[in-house]
Amino acid sequence: MLYQRSSALFAEAQNYIPGGVNSPVRAFKSVGGTPLFIKKAKGAYITDEDNRDYVDFINSWGPMILGHTHPEVLAATVEQMNNGFSFGTPTELETEIAKLITAVVPNIDMIRMVNSGTEACMSAIRLARGFTQRDKIIKFEGCYHGHSDAFLIKAGSGAATFGNPNSPGVTQGTAKDTLLARYNDIESVKKIFEENEDEIAAIIIEPIAGNMGCIVPEEGFLASLRTLCNQKGTLLIFDEVMTGFRLSLGGAQQRLGIEADIVTFGKVIGGGFPVGAFAARKEIMEHLAPLGPVYQAGTLSGNPIAMRAGYTTLNILNKDQNLYDRIDKTTEILDKEITNILSEKGIAHQTNRFGSMMSVFFTDEKVINFDDAQKANHSTFNKFFHHMLKNGIYLAPSGYETWFISDAIKTEEIDKTLTAARSFEA
Ligand code: PMP
Repeated sequence: MLYQRSSALFAEAQNYIPGGVNSPVRAFKSVGGTPLFIKKAKGAYITDEDNRDYVDFINSWGPMILGHTHPEVLAATVEQMNNGFSFGTPTELETEIAKLITAVVPNIDMIRMVNSGTEACMSAIRLARGFTQRDKIIKFEGCYHGHSDAFLIKAGSGAATFGNPNSPGVTQGTAKDTLLARYNDIESVKKIFEENEDEIAAIIIEPIAGNMGCIVPEEGFLASLRTLCNQKGTLLIFDEVMTGFRLSLGGAQQRLGIEADIVTFGKVIGGGFPVGAFAARKEIMEHLAPLGPVYQAGTLSGNPIAMRAGYTTLNILNKDQNLYDRIDKTTEILDKEITNILSEKGIAHQTNRFGSMMSVFFTDEKVINFDDAQKANHSTFNKFFHHMLKNGIYLAPSGYETWFISDAIKTEEIDKTLTAARSFEA
């Protein structure tokens, strides 16, 4: 029987862990069925507890851009471990990784390491508020910036998947300072500025959205946000937790040629270990403790094992000049072929893609914002997901998530994926 041991482990887990998982989207709640319990992963493949291998298009939700258990990252990390696990002191390695990142990412002079994307975004808005001495922020419906209170207002990712984008437990006092705009709708942003003159500390946005499925900004949208921010004395925060070091070394800023004031990172930056970071020009970063009054801290921040894994990953990305072209090309082929297969079957769908991020929406209509993403047929997505899973292809278990293509996914894995898609019946 498929998923036999995973089912047993899931049943047991639910006795001790809410929903059996330590992060909601892992629970397969919206697609139904049993989440795979994974015991190991190598290259393009993950192996479940029933000893089945799957081509992995989740890649730990983005970090594993090189594929799993990359030998160089593994060796460097193990070597680092021999010197100790955590010191709670500064290390030379932290300066090395900071130097590398500030050299390759545009518009940043300094960076602070944290332990997750959530922490990075939470700290970024605190810094923006401290710097501008204003309270309110603008976020976009369907964007996800982690689970801190200020962002759980019409949030994407699991919050969208489970139909509770506004979480209980977030006070009205907090919610009133988060103003919502529509992605790709500059008028909705202008209106908020008109109603909140001189009150907006920051606009935070996923420059390529990945948490309502993959949604690409329309021509001129981000540039208009930049102009508005300049006019209003508001900081533009690019949440590059997904896009940083994935779309290019310089992330979305570099790919799109738009400058942000603060940039947040996660996922790839830690090479699979728990790391996040936020960065900006010196003038802004100097507001942070211990230099400035905006407080932010972390016992395990800059942890040497995590830093070594991240530094080694970023160095590989820095040295392999063709890697980004390669993964983009793989994603383009996947997109085109899946489009052909679904079109031949007469199944209404849209694929959205940017670089090595993509997703498939089952709808006739263009998908450019959260409303469009919600209107897609998610029960067809769920069927597609399970069909692919049975055939050894591991997609994210929700129509509100993005597929992440790793450099370990080659022709053979694409062929397997397309073969699986060919036998899908809606
Ligand atoms: N921002 C974005 C754009 C994300 O995609 C995520 C996580 N998927 C986060 C922030 C939060 O990161 P973490 O899960 O590491 O807290």
